[in-house]
Amino acid sequence: MASPVAIAAQAGKLLREQALRPRLLAVRSQAGHLTSRRWLNLQEYQSKKLMSDHGVKVQRFFVASTAKEALEAAKRLNVKEIVLKAQILAGGRGKGVFNSGLKGGVHLTKDPDVVGQLARQMIGYNLTTKQTPKEGVKVNKVMVAEALDISRETYLAILMDRSHNGPVIVGSPQGGVDIEEVAASNPELIFKEQIDIFEGIKDSQAQRMAENLGFLGPLKNQAADQIKKLYHLFLKIDATQVEVNPFGETPEGQVVCFDAKINFDDNAEFRQKDIFAMDDKSENEPIENEAARYDLKYIGLDGNIACFVNGAGLAMATCDIIFLNGGKPANFLDLGGGVKEAQVYQAFKLLTSDPKVEAILVNIFGGIVNCAIIANGITKACRELELKVPLVVRLEGTNVQEAQNILKNSGLPITSAVDLEDAAKKAVASVAKK
Ligand code: GDP
Ligand code: MN
Repeated sequence: MASPVAIAAQAGKLLREQALRPRLLAVRSQAGHLTSRRWLNLQEYQSKKLMSDHGVKVQRFFVASTAKEALEAAKRLNVKEIVLKAQILAGGRGKGVFNSGLKGGVHLTKDPDVVGQLARQMIGYNLTTKQTPKEGVKVNKVMVAEALDISRETYLAILMDRSHNGPVIVGSPQGGVDIEEVAASNPELIFKEQIDIFEGIKDSQAQRMAENLGFLGPLKNQAADQIKKLYHLFLKIDATQVEVNPFGETPEGQVVCFDAKINFDDNAEFRQKDIFAMDDKSENEPIENEAARYDLKYIGLDGNIACFVNGAGLAMATCDIIFLNGGKPANFLDLGGGVKEAQVYQAFKLLTSDPKVEAILVNIFGGIVNCAIIANGITKACRELELKVPLVVRLEGTNVQEAQNILKNSGLPITSAVDLEDAAKKAVASVAKK
């Protein structure tokens, strides 16, 4: 029999692990960004333009960058009711809050003047939603669209699914809301259709999905037609995900895509030049754009250990092992391959510009990367930037011996680590000491 103390300790460990897991998953999904050279993001209005160009039903809309433009757009639409929507890349806008005090990133009104007043409290302010950082994201544009009555909200998404090695259509008659919650509470209300990418979507599949979503009578054919058009769009534009929530119906018997989120396959940039030219970088942190100037990839997190790595896999492993040793990463800077000494210097400059950073962990595996170049870059950066935080370095691979000598002979207070675990332990300990 285990003692009560042992059981309590075990339970405590389990609780801690459970508390950590969502955080790790969140970090992993952010670190996923590290794998791509760039990450294409389109606003809702841009996605809807693509959809309407492919025969998908969306509301008539204009885009405005000032309250005056929004007012004019509302008048120009000349409709019974208007929906005004803040354009940020995150979802959950409907339930979001602005730092102007305005509640809700999606508003319905019949009065164009009200559109102007609301837009004034949206544009230039930060909108915080469940999917944004706490301080929110600045709204630069609003969508002014013809509002339609919604009699039913369903969920529809088409995505590339690894387990099936192809596209899958996912739908639920319970839309509008957070789909993860539906998946957790009512998994039987999530429906899937796996598509054979060579055969394409079959009529029977589109019909079955429409039926599962609860579209009845003539609406069923209309929904199936929209689903097929969305699938063709998905293929044509090299999307990895097209998400429509709500995919709704109106009392007048129309099936309409009320919201749109599209993700793209970055490897297809060469044949999707027009789409990639629309890339909206305005929501990147300035530091991300600065990093990109030097061919570095930066991801900000909220801990205090800066991580300097090469490759997304190593970034995630570094992240996990820091967490496992009780620490938290402050950020990631991915060097990629073909590194030059000057880049290492810039990387350090960026990492140390973040006031949260209390230690730096360098974890580089030299394959194409030459460790000696990294070591020279590190010592140069340490001297010129007068580094004030502890620095732990783990280098492995090409020219590692020469690199170790460079670090050792520099006379700088650099802590060497023999492996990943050792590096994480030393970095966490250096922060704990403070
Ligand atoms: P999200 O909160 O960022 O996902 O933004 P959505 O575009 O999905 O809008 C949030 C909610 O506002 C939707 O789930 C709808 O309930 C509602 N909504 C959006 N557009 C309209 C519209 O034209 N008419 C009506 N009646 N409701 C709308
Ligand atoms: Mn939505």
